[in-house]
Amino acid sequence: MPLRVTFLGTAGAIPTTDRNPSSVFVAREGEELLFDAGEGTQRQMMRFGTGFSVSQLFVTHCHGDHVLGIPGLLQTMAFNDREEPLAIHTPHGTRGQIKGLINALGNRPSFPVRINEVGDGDVAYRADEYEVRAFGTDHDTRSVGYALLEDDRKGRFDRERAEELGVPVGPKFSRLHEGESVELEDGTVVDPEQVVGDSRPGRSIVYTGDTRPTEATIEVADDPDLLIHDATFADDRADRAAETAHATARQAAEIANRAGADRLALLHLSSRYAGYTADHEEQAREVFAGDPDAVFVPDDGDALEIPYPDGDET
Ligand SMILES: [Zn+2]
Ligand SMILES: [Zn+2]
Repeated sequence: MPLRVTFLGTAGAIPTTDRNPSSVFVAREGEELLFDAGEGTQRQMMRFGTGFSVSQLFVTHCHGDHVLGIPGLLQTMAFNDREEPLAIHTPHGTRGQIKGLINALGNRPSFPVRINEVGDGDVAYRADEYEVRAFGTDHDTRSVGYALLEDDRKGRFDRERAEELGVPVGPKFSRLHEGESVELEDGTVVDPEQVVGDSRPGRSIVYTGDTRPTEATIEVADDPDLLIHDATFADDRADRAAETAHATARQAAEIANRAGADRLALLHLSSRYAGYTADHEEQAREVFAGDPDAVFVPDDGDALEIPYPDGDET
């Protein structure tokens, strides 16, 4: 079950010629999710070939650099005769701002747009095998981050053991794997525990949007496979990070350690670092407990496949 993250926009509040404002695209087995939509997000989607079949848009907060791409994106979706509904999740108290952005189109979109306000701990979206949960962040406006949390997967089915126990190859295999006991022709009952291993953890991605370091980021997921954290500044501007409710790359790495994150993507770089990301990576790697190569400042358009923690394919 592929899970792919594409970084559409990695700039801070002011874009640069290389970096677009915030947006992260996630594709999971035919379903497409967008986290923030800074100005120009639709053109990034075209450039990097993600398509426009997004069903859910998760807005971390209503600063312009995270939402000004919404009107253009919706307008293009409407020109493409979209009919499928779009849900926009946004922090409590910001419905009016999202409505204002939709009204900026001039015409009502051709498809239903549902606005869902969320706060700390709310499940913004529940799908078949995962959910997207909001968590409180510490920014200078109403804000949340989001965690994509997959459910545990079924344990491995021990086919050999099942055959040894006399279970005939066929539907009884899948019933056992689904957790049901089955009765064999001679009356013996085989229980799932005899042939199915322990359940296996799913994957998780945590995206903070703009924030100072917060406990909630650590608590929302156990050992996330990928933490995408605000790293607006390097150490030279640590004071400025605190003042403006952002984080430094080093602080992002400290949070990643405490959260047990496998990989750390540093996002939302201030335009003062245009063309120069070495300090961010070096300072975060100094403190990151895991593989230093797993800490990175993505370029716009960089994409990443997230494997299962146990290395299995399914
Ligand atoms: Zn921002
Ligand atoms: Zn902001």
